[in-house]
Amino acid sequence: MSKCPFCGFELVTPSKEWRYSVFDVKSFRCPNCGRWFREYYYRGVLKFILVPSEKGRARKFEGR
Ligand SMILES: [Zn+2]
Repeated sequence: MSKCPFCGFELVTPSKEWRYSVFDVKSFRCPNCGRWFREYYYRGVLKFILVPSEKGRARKFEGR
């Protein structure tokens, strides 16, 4: 279970999953607010979250 960092909406299924270097990446699009975010897992532990910024570049959130 993942939570949207913008509105707190709970998401169960990622829209996309892939492997990036040592990380397992899960990409979500929130159906509630329409924004996307990506979770980066290392060995099953959430390390950080990437979200889009106003300039179109990704912004980094620290893991919980
Ligand atoms: Zn949301």
